[in-house]
Amino acid sequence: MDAFDLIVIGSGPGGYVAAIRAAELGMKVACIEKDKVLGGTCLHVGCIPSKALLQATEHYQWLTTKAAEFGIIGSAVVDFPALMQRKEGIVKGLASGIATHFTKEKIETVYGNAQFTSPTAVAVGDRQLTAKWFIVATGSVPIALPFLPFDEKKVVSSTGALALESVPEKMVVVGGGAIGVELASVYARLGSSVQIVEMLPQIVAGFDGAVSRLLLQLLQKQGIVFHLEATVQSAKVQEQSVLLSVQQKEQTKEIEADVVLVAVGRRPYTQGLDLEKAGVKTTPKGFINVDGNLRSSNPQVMAIGDVIEGPMLAHRASHEGIALAEHLAGKTAQMQAISIPNVVYTHPEAASVGLTEEEAKAAGLSTFTGQAWFKGNGRARCEGETEGFVKLLGEKSSGRLIGLHIIGAHASELIAEGVIALDKRATVRDLAHGCFPHPTLSEVVMEAARAAL
Ligand SMILES: Cc1cc2nc3c(=O)[nH]c(=O)nc-3n(C[C@H](O)[C@H](O)[C@H](O)COP(=O)(O)OP(=O)(O)OC[C@H]3O[C@@H](n4cnc5c(N)ncnc54)[C@H](O)[C@@H]3O)c2cc1C
Repeated sequence: MDAFDLIVIGSGPGGYVAAIRAAELGMKVACIEKDKVLGGTCLHVGCIPSKALLQATEHYQWLTTKAAEFGIIGSAVVDFPALMQRKEGIVKGLASGIATHFTKEKIETVYGNAQFTSPTAVAVGDRQLTAKWFIVATGSVPIALPFLPFDEKKVVSSTGALALESVPEKMVVVGGGAIGVELASVYARLGSSVQIVEMLPQIVAGFDGAVSRLLLQLLQKQGIVFHLEATVQSAKVQEQSVLLSVQQKEQTKEIEADVVLVAVGRRPYTQGLDLEKAGVKTTPKGFINVDGNLRSSNPQVMAIGDVIEGPMLAHRASHEGIALAEHLAGKTAQMQAISIPNVVYTHPEAASVGLTEEEAKAAGLSTFTGQAWFKGNGRARCEGETEGFVKLLGEKSSGRLIGLHIIGAHASELIAEGVIALDKRATVRDLAHGCFPHPTLSEVVMEAARAAL
């Protein structure tokens, strides 16, 4: 039996980051991965391929709709296979980077399905491995609609949508969350006629209402058709298309599509792990139950990332992976992130951290807000990116920043200053009085803070 200090199960952004940090801190580490490559959902069928396609199609959209305004004239043509190949190249490069890092840190990579055989051992095929500690980082998988199973050709999950062989003429996306609107944007920019069916009255649930409303308007302007407060009741998969029956309030309509993307959420993945043999308990929804130190009902088995409750985001998984490795090595670590930003990589992007105005109100907090628009910012004008705003929320008695909400160019980058400000309990005054570089989009954050004061 091979013995380790730590065995990490799963090599996504939770697992591989935990394995590297633990090895850096001197532990003997093995990482078990059931796929043939390292990197997990985020690298192979999530964050990275989706952002590669969003970037490519954003350039195309810019060339076809904005370039003339900049005095750049000419036509642009999409080579779809080349666009997909670039995405594959980025993924392969990053995956080989993880493998190189593992070799450098002397982490043993074991390919195959990990299965607990006792509270202190796992089997991978014929091989038995034991460790002082285990970190389960087995992630999540897409949820299918019971009457519309994935065939990954006409009825696709996000995985299939990232690997289509051609641009569909008509696409329906079921679910207006982050994954739904991002992939809808990709294909709408490439010329598909895209419709989104969303059960709630708003898209990107969880975002501040003002951000979500403007994002809806801007995506509609880009040609995406939305059916809100609507649910898909049934579906007929035909030879060339899929026919959906959609109920919206009292009305039932039929919508036909060449490809239907079902993006209604993800569920934790623990299949085949035999958690009961390790004495590890799960919640009714299938998440691994953990305490504040990310420990399961078996104190030697920890869990991080999508397989435990909380926002299913790569940076949360990585944060937990690093903190847990440091905690196991005897260091003081902030086990759960204080503030976890949320981003939608549409055009423009939307990003949020801390409480929304609606959440603050529901919590009975007394708040003040400030808002500033990108259209008044010099850099935004130069970039031709004048849509959107920054809205921030302060708490009256302390003056502390409690939420930052951005819709606009590079919102995903700008939100980082809100993360630090929230973590360090900064006040709105702290943000307003910083000396921000000019001309930059970050000045809009400062302007919103000034407006709040
Ligand atoms: C289309 C899409 C876009 C996304 N975009 C973003 C984004 O922009 N930003 C963001 O923060 N998040 C994004 N996410 C979410 C993000 O990908 C996940 O939150 C993240 O990957 C979770 O990391 P993880 O380490 O918990 O699990 P995963 O990345 O899911 O990795 C789990 C790994 O465990 C392996 N595994 C499972 N069971 C076993 C077993 N028994 N034995 C061995 N190995 C096993 C799996 O093969 C997998 O490699 C996106 C997701 C999707 C689908």
